[in-house]
Amino acid sequence: MGDVPAEKEKPRSVTGAEARRVKREVLGIADSSRPSGRRAATRRAKESGVRERVYRYRCYPTDAQAEQLVRTFGACRWVYNEGLALRKKAWREHRVSVGFAETCRALTGWRRAEGTAWLGEVSSTVLQQPLRHLQAAFQAFFRGSAKYPKPKKKGRARDGATYARTGFSWREDAGRPGTGAVKLALQSEPLDVRWSRPLPAGVVPLRLTVSRDRAGRFFVAFLVEEAVAPLPEAFVAGSREPRAVGVDLGLASLVTLDDGTKVDPPRLMRRYADQLARLQRELHRKKHGSRNREKVRHKIARLYALISDVRKDMLDQLTTRLVRENQVLVVEDLSIVTLLAPAKGKGRRRKARLNDSIRDASWGELLRQLTYKCEWYGRTLVVVDRFFPSTRRCSGCHAKGPKLDVSVREWVCAECGAAHDRDVNAAVNLRDEGMRLYWLVASALPPGQAVPSVLRASELAPEELAAAA
Ligand SMILES: [Zn+2]
Repeated sequence: MGDVPAEKEKPRSVTGAEARRVKREVLGIADSSRPSGRRAATRRAKESGVRERVYRYRCYPTDAQAEQLVRTFGACRWVYNEGLALRKKAWREHRVSVGFAETCRALTGWRRAEGTAWLGEVSSTVLQQPLRHLQAAFQAFFRGSAKYPKPKKKGRARDGATYARTGFSWREDAGRPGTGAVKLALQSEPLDVRWSRPLPAGVVPLRLTVSRDRAGRFFVAFLVEEAVAPLPEAFVAGSREPRAVGVDLGLASLVTLDDGTKVDPPRLMRRYADQLARLQRELHRKKHGSRNREKVRHKIARLYALISDVRKDMLDQLTTRLVRENQVLVVEDLSIVTLLAPAKGKGRRRKARLNDSIRDASWGELLRQLTYKCEWYGRTLVVVDRFFPSTRRCSGCHAKGPKLDVSVREWVCAECGAAHDRDVNAAVNLRDEGMRLYWLVASALPPGQAVPSVLRASELAPEELAAAA
């Protein structure tokens, strides 16, 4: 932690004319040519029902295109790292803080400088994007939600380049709406995109990102705005009672529903663990820098890519089904971050294995998908407080049982004698508690007003929770 500049300590910072002098004379950042008054925010207010959505496709650049893209990726990484170094140096040596606009002006200087003239071969709008990402990384750091930004290493960080609206041309194919010709800045031919599904007909992508994974596959991801219609409300058959589901997240089963349905975790990492281990051993036997080593490395990367694709797809289908069938979805607040705290001290290995399983099961991704899908389709996700004893409480008589070790899968309530499956019982408790909170909020709303798409128990007023069991 010692080398992290304490940019948060504002009082000691250098500002005004002295800061401008340091920036100009020491750091080589040209003065702003624009008057210092900020431009009005250009972000348009979004119409209701319009969502930003990402569509991702495989693409097959020609050799020349691939070569140009790889150079672009390298330039983006270089600009990100250079911007980071500049901001770090400005603060550490001169107590001057440098923001996004200034790194952009520095970029103009780098593009003109003799040693880095090769940056001129890459579109300037594309090179501004890494500086935007850097800005976002710093903002996350200042908010306290992320660590101090780190330089991107070749081969370690994912290769990618983002093209803003001015960085590509788009011509929709009249014969196949939602597909079309995409031509990137500084490329003469359109990109060969495999349209596995069309974009919404008639949209113009807001921006796109071309990337290459470690298996060497190229992808293009389009950001579009599209209207998403909410689904009709889901009621219990023959009533006006919203259909609700309690979703217990676990390790034995990724998801257990209150009706007893269990969905197995995509424990692909485990299934492929032997295969991976074999390849890793093989990799270690190969000579550094040899062709064979490169081949094995490639195989490993492909295996990882396969696992990630299958997992995403599986989660996508699961969350879509849950959101379609139910009006209210209830989950537990897992504080994933706490669970993923680095393994250390006693029981380190066990914790490390658990970390693997958690990541493997992709709870974070699952909750992310449920959250946005509930918002899109007019559903409500209730997040029950993580101190709610969903596992220990008997769902029949609400007696609180003993604390259960992770290994205990079944138990019998000492009060009413009901036999419980650990996870199903937890899911029933979650659904009941979630519906209690849902009705508390729903009944307090003026008639006709929809219940918010996310209800967090931890954010409700204490009087709303007063009746808590
Ligand atoms: Zn009981």
